[in-house]
Amino acid sequence: MKLSADLSPLWHPFTQHATAGPMVEIVRGEGAWLHGADGRRYLDAISSWWVITHGHGHPAIASAIAAQAAILEQVIFAGFTHPPAEQLARKLLALAPRAADGEQLEFVFLSDSGSTAVEVGLKMAVGYWHNLGRPRHRVVAFEHGYHGDTFGAMSVGARSIFSAPYQPMLFSVDFLPFPAAGGEEATLAAFAALLDRHGGDIAALIIEPLVLGAGGMLMYDPALLAELARLARRNEVFLIADEVMTGFGRTGTLFACEQAGIVPDVMCVSKGITGGFLPMGATLATRRLYDAFWSADRARMFFHSSSYTGNPIACAAAVANLAIWEREPVLERIERIAAVHARRLPALGERAEVSSVRHRGTIAAIDIAAATGGYLSDLGPRLYAFFMARGLLLRPLGNVVYLLPPYCTSNDELDGIYDVIEDSLAALRDRSL
Ligand SMILES: *Cc1c(COP(=O)(O)O)cnc(C)c1O
Repeated sequence: MKLSADLSPLWHPFTQHATAGPMVEIVRGEGAWLHGADGRRYLDAISSWWVITHGHGHPAIASAIAAQAAILEQVIFAGFTHPPAEQLARKLLALAPRAADGEQLEFVFLSDSGSTAVEVGLKMAVGYWHNLGRPRHRVVAFEHGYHGDTFGAMSVGARSIFSAPYQPMLFSVDFLPFPAAGGEEATLAAFAALLDRHGGDIAALIIEPLVLGAGGMLMYDPALLAELARLARRNEVFLIADEVMTGFGRTGTLFACEQAGIVPDVMCVSKGITGGFLPMGATLATRRLYDAFWSADRARMFFHSSSYTGNPIACAAAVANLAIWEREPVLERIERIAAVHARRLPALGERAEVSSVRHRGTIAAIDIAAATGGYLSDLGPRLYAFFMARGLLLRPLGNVVYLLPPYCTSNDELDGIYDVIEDSLAALRDRSL
């Protein structure tokens, strides 16, 4: 290793420091733009890893954070509560998917990230069966899924180069084939077969509703999700919807589950919950789950906490975010973005350099053809460099170029993104990239 005076002591996520070169220093964010220390600016077309919703620096969230910090910055959340947490829980539940028959999510457990929201959901489902004295330890998940980087979340995610060093330490999970268009019956048959064989041992089915994010923005039919939910319910298997990426409008509705008309038993949210300002996770659960931990017996409480659970400043940011959803035409902005995807993608799909295109809500994905594929395909880094040189932050997943822009992104800015992508395809064709 080359030691140098200017090597930063920071160890960055998903970064090979030996080849990455210096990190781009960002000093300010505004709307859809990131401003660099060197005076350059970058259009944040991936919402800074899927967290920014309304845009960088929304003043209502910034001022809610400042106000809360001056009043109460933190308090232990066991034995104590506070107004921002109470407001957040009630607002979140009021906005969560709700069925015509009254089925709904009624309780909220707060944590700090998407990974912890998932860990909490898994522990709720397994803990439920433990408390009932009928232990169940099997979990079913989708192949190509991603649920976070802690050990439990890694276990239920796709086994890949990301988790290879830890493989023997991950608990075993039954994976269903991804329900690609035309392959839905195989997914349903695989789930039905697992239920036949191990039904009484399966605690939960965990899925990313409608779009598998880190797996390559893979999209599937809401009707398939509705059918899986029906099978799970009929067999007393808890459905855990991981809405960490899809939540807060990305797929065209506030939550993706709405499009399948389902109410999961557990819903995990995080990324967009504070509009992208502060880390926070929330796990929503039904009364049935909550009731299994309600007892005079202290051994039946839910054994989980993190130090910053229910942080008042993060809660205030989340409350301010939800108020923006109520006050501003956010769903109209989302529809406008979806319309640009629908207008620009078909022409891209016709190109020889592209094997397929797809979109749902604000998310669009373009599969580059004839690439070796996979996360470590060198096409991704080459495209990333091409885009960055043109002031555009896009971070391809292997050979999948995707857009996941903040909702303030204008049509002109979106057209600009598509123009740069078209330039990159021309450069690929001419082998100049
Ligand atoms: C990002 C992500 C997570 C993990 O969230 P972190 O906040 O990064 O821990 C979990 N599930 C899904 C679907 C995600 O996209």
